[in-house]
Amino acid sequence: MSQETLSNLLHEQRRFPPSEEFAAQAVAKPSLYEEAAADREAFWGRQAHELLTWSKDFDQVLDWTDAPFAKWFVGGRLNACYNCVDRHVEAGLGDRVAYYWQGDPEGDKRTITYADLQRMVCQAANALESLGIHQDDTVAIYLPMIPETVVAMLACARIGAPHTLVFAGFSAEALASRIADADARVVITADGQFRRGTRAPLKPQVDEAVAKSPGVEKVVVVRRTGDEIAWDESRDVWWHDLVDQQSDQHEAHDFDSEQPLYILYTSGTTGKPKGIFHTTGGYLTQCAYTHRNVFDVHPERDVYWCAADVGWVTGHSYIVYGPLTNAATSILYEGVPHPGAQDRWWKLIDERKVSILYTAPTTIRTYMKWGTDMLQGHDLSSLRLLGSVGEPINPEAWIWYRDTIGGGWCPVVDTWWQTETGAIMVSPLPGVTATKPGSAMRALPGITVDVVDDTGQPVPNGSGGYLVVTSPWPAMLRGVWGDPERYRETYWSRFPGLYFAGDGAKKDEDGDLWLLGRVDDVMNVSGHRLSTTEIESALVSHPKVAEAAVVGANDPTTGQMVCAFVILRQEAIQEADEPGEGSELVAELRDHVAKEIGPIAKPREILVVSELPKTRSGKIMRRLLRDVAEDRAIGDVTTLADSTVMDQIRQRMATTH
Ligand code: ATP
Ligand code: MG
Repeated sequence: MSQETLSNLLHEQRRFPPSEEFAAQAVAKPSLYEEAAADREAFWGRQAHELLTWSKDFDQVLDWTDAPFAKWFVGGRLNACYNCVDRHVEAGLGDRVAYYWQGDPEGDKRTITYADLQRMVCQAANALESLGIHQDDTVAIYLPMIPETVVAMLACARIGAPHTLVFAGFSAEALASRIADADARVVITADGQFRRGTRAPLKPQVDEAVAKSPGVEKVVVVRRTGDEIAWDESRDVWWHDLVDQQSDQHEAHDFDSEQPLYILYTSGTTGKPKGIFHTTGGYLTQCAYTHRNVFDVHPERDVYWCAADVGWVTGHSYIVYGPLTNAATSILYEGVPHPGAQDRWWKLIDERKVSILYTAPTTIRTYMKWGTDMLQGHDLSSLRLLGSVGEPINPEAWIWYRDTIGGGWCPVVDTWWQTETGAIMVSPLPGVTATKPGSAMRALPGITVDVVDDTGQPVPNGSGGYLVVTSPWPAMLRGVWGDPERYRETYWSRFPGLYFAGDGAKKDEDGDLWLLGRVDDVMNVSGHRLSTTEIESALVSHPKVAEAAVVGANDPTTGQMVCAFVILRQEAIQEADEPGEGSELVAELRDHVAKEIGPIAKPREILVVSELPKTRSGKIMRRLLRDVAEDRAIGDVTTLADSTVMDQIRQRMATTH
């Protein structure tokens, strides 16, 4: 990739150094970088000792002799659930709130303390054991964002049974394939769920999926909506019948540091999801370390909200394992932003005095589109730190987030990581780093990454290439479930000795990192490499645009041509004429891109749309847009959030041609 890459991101001049006041109270100190650089393994060993409780100490920090298969904290023994729950109760923190749960219906609320959580988890662990689930049996969890979901995960962890969460919006088909791949013996689900103010069934999908899954022995059903459901007496059991009668005492046995903790399938943005598996000691260490340092968590006073779904890796690491290991107080929110409830988030932040908010660029851009009326009457002054994850954040969205939500003074941390990395890898440290809008900045202390060219050589500052991780890290995936060859092939074969992340990135003149999107999405227009992220950010910097997706479609003369799909801001929609090819607005946007990046980057086509195809985790699925732009049948849509979006876009395409 690209000495000749054109760039607008690298012209970004705005800088946000930490305030003295923030730095004075910050968890992270600049010395972390030096300490980690001096002796990386000793650094991680110290983190593992300080952040976790081990029943048996480890003998060795890292065993990399069987690379790329890593072992961290070799010989150590611990229980993940004990680290998340019991030890805090033993330390006298039983009355601290673990979760403020807010359901989708406004009246549904629960406050769950660490002592409550301990009782609930013990009962659930006893229940699973009564079903014959023991160490290494896998359990599928297909539940919405309710307390039982977290309880089920922790109960599995407590007995050494790897869990696999399947997002509660996925089809029966998607559920069945994950059950089969993970070899699950039990499925935990609910009768139905509340979403966007309406109720949706869940149990029928499970019935359909389990009919194709001979390995499933029991289906445990949480009563959530109270709707009528089909029932198989020999297989189905109500959660309240099974769990509530169990003893709330349960002894947590210890497991090896490398005990599998969970399997989780990637989002499927680039193709068929991969079953990534994580183990215990290293994963928990990096989750706790990053949670404390990147979000500046002071567990005794912060109310922290990671607004992801627990069915994504972000939910695993930053709603469950990271915050609980650190004894933090979190929000667990069942709802998702939707036009009918634009101010629910702001109300909740005001009501619970949330101090730390972690969300995705897609959500930030949705709120940008809606405008600021939604904020009226809600006091957001409790917020003191904002985080972003999931996609590159466009500089304009970053600034909007900081100014409009963060009062112009909250530090913003753009965190790069993946299901595979298990925890945050690249991010500013609040109180330490002077941030640049749109840049994830540097590898965290203890993590080593680089940007390399086609031959695997590091590129100089000011150039772009492939993002790689250059040494093993504690929360790294231990493999693709049941498929060691795919693990080697996907991540370790492209550049020998380096972990290939699949993302493009650039180092600026200071060596700071700018993520450029998927390597597969990079376009080649008349010999110029163009990144989707750069053109999208140029479009989003236009005052009328809220969100943009760019793809390269094959073109006989230029190799590829740039096609853009844009969503307008609310104010602009009202003014717009019927925008299609040739309309004034489209011309204006094309000129804007030419001015920001260069004429070569000018989109050949710009289609104004009302929605973009996204995964359930909110990432834009560019490969589907490419299918439309190249006029062929669209690919795997099993992880698409809303299947009608593609029809709308196709129709729009047809009417403008
Ligand atoms: P699949 O691997 O199945 O295609 P996916 O990569 O979308 O799915 P995830 O593991 O959920 O599945 O997402 C990780 C990816 O998200 C990263 O590889 C990167 O492309 C993107 N990403 C996450 N955080 C950031 C960030 N802060 N900046 C830029 N990109 C990010
Ligand atoms: Mg991926």
